[in-house]
Amino acid sequence: MADGLKVRFWGVRGSISCAGAEYVRYGGNTSCLEVTAGGRRLIFDAGTGIRTLGLELARQAPLDIDIYFTHTHLDHLSGLTFFAPLFDKRNSVRMWAGHLEAPYTLKKVVSNLMQAPIYPVTLDIFQASVGFKEFSAGASLTCGAVTMRTAPLNHPNGATGYRVEYGGKSICYITDTEHREGGRDQTIVDLCRGADIMIYDCSYTDEEYPRYRGWGHSTWQEGARIADAAGVGTLAIFHHDPSHDDAFMDDVARKAAELRPGSAPGGLPRIVVAHEGLTLAP
Ligand SMILES: [Zn+2]
Ligand SMILES: [Zn+2]
Repeated sequence: MADGLKVRFWGVRGSISCAGAEYVRYGGNTSCLEVTAGGRRLIFDAGTGIRTLGLELARQAPLDIDIYFTHTHLDHLSGLTFFAPLFDKRNSVRMWAGHLEAPYTLKKVVSNLMQAPIYPVTLDIFQASVGFKEFSAGASLTCGAVTMRTAPLNHPNGATGYRVEYGGKSICYITDTEHREGGRDQTIVDLCRGADIMIYDCSYTDEEYPRYRGWGHSTWQEGARIADAAGVGTLAIFHHDPSHDDAFMDDVARKAAELRPGSAPGGLPRIVVAHEGLTLAP
């Protein structure tokens, strides 16, 4: 594993996965990121994208992996039970969540997903050593030499934003969240201040947003405003709405490059549209 901080996108879609010729370039799998740094592997969210990541990782057992959930809505959870490393007793997988409140725990949520009559097998099917860890959004975490700050996001049932730091570089993962109209969300601005990369919930456009007030998502234009307010190097447009096919996302990419032209100090573009397979190293 290369030592420097980097992120690979395995699922970039929001809300529900989508298949079809019109989604092949940006990808139809739901949220999953793989962050590697300092010899550690951190996975963020277990949307359907985690299945293909798992197939690649399964060949590298024994594995010691941490999975951090932004939250446990299905588009961030439903791939978990298809994550191959969970079915190999040589592996250790720890899962973390910071958004849950009593009576919910992460173990209970995953157990509820894996129960009759909606799922054929229960939690006991996992053969890896599995740990469930809770924290409160706002806490600081460490994973080896990787440090993380977290913050609560504005989303129904809660969600956690992460700022991952290693070797003087930083990547923020901010999904799912609804912006505050009439001003920037100061919690996010503070968490992302000066970050090299901010991956942000860009489900909608500003024009579409009024139809979706209260659903807990934001827009790519608001992402750019927050990135500017926080002095973020690169904004990664993420959590694409299933109604946005490749042609639509090409149009977003073109308009985004006009709004935030040029390169960040590290050489990455100041704005990118995330697609499956994209790797960013700040
Ligand atoms: Zn989502
Ligand atoms: Zn959600």
